[in-house]
Amino acid sequence: MLSQRMQNLNPYVPGEQPKDREYIKINANENPYPPSPKVVKAIEEFVHNNPNKLTVYPDPDSLQLHKDIADMLNATGGVLCRANIEGDKVTPDPKDKIPFTVTPDMIYTGNGSDEVLSFVFYAFFDSDRPLITPEHSYSFYPVYCGFYGIPRMPVSMNDDWTLKTSDMCELAVKNNSSIIFANPNAPTSLGLTRQEIKQMLDASPKDRVFVVDEAYCDFGGESAIPLLKDYKNLLIVRTFSKSFCGAGLRSGFIVANPELVNAVTTVKNSLNHFPMDAITQVASCAAVKDAAYYAECAKKVVATRTDFIEFLKNKGWQVNDSQTNFVFIRKDGVDGKKAYEYIKQQGILVRRFDTKGIEEYLRITIGTDEQMAKLKSIMENL
Ligand SMILES: *Cc1c(COP(=O)(O)O)cnc(C)c1O
Repeated sequence: MLSQRMQNLNPYVPGEQPKDREYIKINANENPYPPSPKVVKAIEEFVHNNPNKLTVYPDPDSLQLHKDIADMLNATGGVLCRANIEGDKVTPDPKDKIPFTVTPDMIYTGNGSDEVLSFVFYAFFDSDRPLITPEHSYSFYPVYCGFYGIPRMPVSMNDDWTLKTSDMCELAVKNNSSIIFANPNAPTSLGLTRQEIKQMLDASPKDRVFVVDEAYCDFGGESAIPLLKDYKNLLIVRTFSKSFCGAGLRSGFIVANPELVNAVTTVKNSLNHFPMDAITQVASCAAVKDAAYYAECAKKVVATRTDFIEFLKNKGWQVNDSQTNFVFIRKDGVDGKKAYEYIKQQGILVRRFDTKGIEEYLRITIGTDEQMAKLKSIMENL
């Protein structure tokens, strides 16, 4: 009964969401803080005041949301943890300021960045050439390669988990291929500077789409958005799931030049004209309009991260620098799987992978100070 296509599927395994007991959940890089009260209010008011809007289809083009996202990027520079907050206004750190105005026609929104990425794979990657990715990056990329029948060319990484950017670009040129990676990368938590991304763009095919997944950029990365003016083949993916405390909303977006945005829109309109429901659109608009709140949350996460990394280093763990809301760690003499299980028994869920090369590592999401204090007391004995 199954189609041929079905046999190529190798589904993503997300961080556990167990129902058997209440765990402290720091295994899926969710934000430990609640959404802005303004988001809650916007949802309540929408349902209360406009119940009939649930009867009719939502705006398929999410025009208001595209405008609000563009405004937020211009106001914050796309890195919340570095944005300056004055009351409910935010201004970008000079380092992040975008040297042009992001316009709504440069934004595409969808049902979580996973869906957005799926449409990107469909629109720009072909089965006749390999897609270049780092060996370890977001584990959904190989899943989509399987789904769409796109060959993948994983490129090994340096011993310190930095990317072999020259190798990636050389392979991209040789195969006239696209490149995709997360920046900062997951699960390694390390980021490339904008200058490094620019060098990669210069060294890779101009007629192939180059995708940078900025799911974690708000926690300290350098956004590639300022490069969009000079690189028409650059496409940036972002999500509300991490820095916008909204994994349950299912909201993600693209920032790219309108030509690429239009191509992804064509895919959407050929598959599901209305991927974003009306409530998610309203909630997402309210979220980006309250960037000050989320910048505050990102700053708190960064402070907790600094403290936790210091603890880990004191305890002899090897810790990558982190520009994300998680850390990627191992310790000589500690078995990754056993450590994970020990921590789980004590009521805290962290993430580990069976993937070859990173089996001994734990990926731990930065929670609240309280949650991390509990974890620290458990890890004292590891
Ligand atoms: C979490 C994550 C996503 C997925 O985000 P959703 O918007 O929740 O689908 C995409 N890319 C990376 C690198 C992520 O870590």
